[in-house]
Amino acid sequence: MRVNIKSPEVEIRERRLGSITGFYGSASELCNKSKSGKLCDRMHSFSQCLGCSSGNALCQLALIQDAVVINHAPLGCSADFSDFNFINTVERQARNIPVANANLLSTNLNEEDTIYGGGQKLESTIEEAYYRFKPNAIFITTSCASGIIGDDVDTIAQEAENKFNIPVVYVSCEGFRSKIWTTGFDAAYHAIIRKIVKPPIKKMKDMVNVINFWGTDIFTDLFGRIGLTPNYIVPFSTIDQLQKISEAAATVQICPTLGTYLAASLEQEYGVPEVKTPPAYGIEGTDAWFRELGRITGKEKEVEELIKSEKERIYPELERLREKLKGKRVYITAGAAHGHSIMYILRDLGVEIVGASIFHHDPCYDNRDDKGKSLDHLVKTYGDIKHFNVCNKQSYELINSLNRLKPDIFVARHGGMAIWGAKLGIPTFLMDNEQFGLGYQGLLNYGNKVLDVLETPEFIKNIAAHTKLAYTDWWINQKPDTFLEVNKHE
Ligand code: SF4
Repeated sequence: MRVNIKSPEVEIRERRLGSITGFYGSASELCNKSKSGKLCDRMHSFSQCLGCSSGNALCQLALIQDAVVINHAPLGCSADFSDFNFINTVERQARNIPVANANLLSTNLNEEDTIYGGGQKLESTIEEAYYRFKPNAIFITTSCASGIIGDDVDTIAQEAENKFNIPVVYVSCEGFRSKIWTTGFDAAYHAIIRKIVKPPIKKMKDMVNVINFWGTDIFTDLFGRIGLTPNYIVPFSTIDQLQKISEAAATVQICPTLGTYLAASLEQEYGVPEVKTPPAYGIEGTDAWFRELGRITGKEKEVEELIKSEKERIYPELERLREKLKGKRVYITAGAAHGHSIMYILRDLGVEIVGASIFHHDPCYDNRDDKGKSLDHLVKTYGDIKHFNVCNKQSYELINSLNRLKPDIFVARHGGMAIWGAKLGIPTFLMDNEQFGLGYQGLLNYGNKVLDVLETPEFIKNIAAHTKLAYTDWWINQKPDTFLEVNKHE
């Protein structure tokens, strides 16, 4: 059994999957080391910033329509409440869901609580959450402070659950537990699979779970054409909907970095088959993804028709885009599997990938199936990437690489990273809608976006002309991996 849903805490990615945050070399070298079991994390001897698992857990749980999330933490750990409330209100409109605030509370742990314990504060916050919001479930996300003082959050949650007769769920996502902040996704899903999902009553042969963020709804149309219905999880779902995800015919995910744990858990615990292919980006990935979904759901014929008609539709414009983009060089920074997916798209558009800074690397996924390994698919299908950096959002490494490789365009998946391209005068765009590049249409979307950005170089040049970089010439002339320690065991 790979996923242990009996344990109150999820096992962190470093231990479960052997994930790392420090590597510099080629993509093929990283694939080979991952396969041979010789992959060691190169520690950063200097670190500028890090993400926190708590934010990744919150980004899934905060958007459940009828739940409350309590962050059992000092108030500073809840700084991201405003981000997720903003996403919640804006993206609800995009999905035609009535606009409402996210239901988020903090226990506001202070110095005194770190001495005497925060248990009573948590109990009264649960009570406040229950009476104020009348939710169908309460999730309690933890923090470094609550972890260090050792509050027994699981027991408090269980007692509250008995008292209020709704699921009250402990989500273990203390920032210090894992260097891989995507462990926070796993913590949220562990909580859902452990305490929310119920055994299936009736299998829904046309319903497909889609593990995603909050991107555009493209699956209602795509799946509708092959006789399937998407069940978007977890953002914007309800507790009732989550209780029934065990009844789906299959689970797909827009990105295995996000959904690996939930998809594997649903298959292991309830027999919901996971589509185990590379993500549905670029032509080959999309072909494989849809064909596997068709095989699992008995929709092979419909899928072949969809693939044929989509390809016929996009190819003339794809050829036009390839012609215009010939010779262009791009650098990418993004989370792991989604970063690989963006590279599939750009390679299919005929663009050269000069390098990438990818936030972490999972040498395998929870399903332990090799077919779906996203980096392997990249190297096998599109060739090697010479300058491949696994870099947990260290801006100093990114800016060094960008300056050396001087791409024509820089694509970033996270806001804080995009600004460095602009400061160096490199046409840059930020793409936070992961559905934008998905499927066959995604190739056209990206191709046109790249062309648009390349057509307005003056804007970026002006930004660069008025920017004084925070980095000295000394750093710019070092190698990008100067602060990555060398592993003697590899
Ligand atoms: S949980 Fe820890 S790492 Fe995360 S925001 Fe709070 S103090 Fe920072």
